[in-house]
Amino acid sequence: MNEEKFARQRHEMVAEQIEARHLRDPRLLDAMRRIPRHAFIPPTYHDLAYQDRPVLIGENQTISQPYIVALMTNLLQLQGEERVLEIGTGSGYQAAILAAMARQVYTIERHELLAERAAEILEKLGIKNVAIRQGDGSRGWPEEAPFDAIMVTAAAPRVPKPLSDQLAEGGRMVIPVGPAGMQQLEVWTRQSGQLKQDVIVPVSFVPLRGEFGFEDDWTTGIL
Ligand code: SAM
Repeated sequence: MNEEKFARQRHEMVAEQIEARHLRDPRLLDAMRRIPRHAFIPPTYHDLAYQDRPVLIGENQTISQPYIVALMTNLLQLQGEERVLEIGTGSGYQAAILAAMARQVYTIERHELLAERAAEILEKLGIKNVAIRQGDGSRGWPEEAPFDAIMVTAAAPRVPKPLSDQLAEGGRMVIPVGPAGMQQLEVWTRQSGQLKQDVIVPVSFVPLRGEFGFEDDWTTGIL
């Protein structure tokens, strides 16, 4: 019964929040209609799962607003065969969307509890092409580099050098860059060895911590 209600809400979410904002990639829309976002959210907040907003997932962290998940995924221009690195697993929802659109996803989360929970949810849903590691994602995952696409789901002071070093030729990285509450979403593309930057929209994310992230924790106006 609840599953039917959630499925209906999911279809409305895609129509009203994603398609209506001009994101039309059929593979992305299909993934967002299929993957049960509520399964990644603590039961107390299930009613908020398909709303146009971020939701708390514990450890003072959030699952991003559905539109931001869609926008960032769309910017990676995935075709289906890529190896993707995500920094900031959080709930595991973004990783599940990426896993539906690429060959293999590697994702790193600094909070052990969140990493464990995300792994359990992905396993329950039968999603097998996601490898999760607990640790400092600002250093990337050198053993598995290079990556065709990199997505950072926390705000960085600048693009962490290990991440740009781990981006394959022709690869794309999407990352929010800037201080608390004032970041811009950037896409970095590696072409003929050179990195090219495009600035997309202003955003507001929780901070990327760790060696190449912010030293202090701020959690304001979060996505
Ligand atoms: N992608 C997530 C999802 O789908 O639920 C949402 C990510 S949340 C906005 C940002 C996440 O980045 C938080 O879970 C936070 O703990 C994590 N994070 C922050 N700094 C990190 C770091 N250096 N390495 C790995 N994860 C980090």
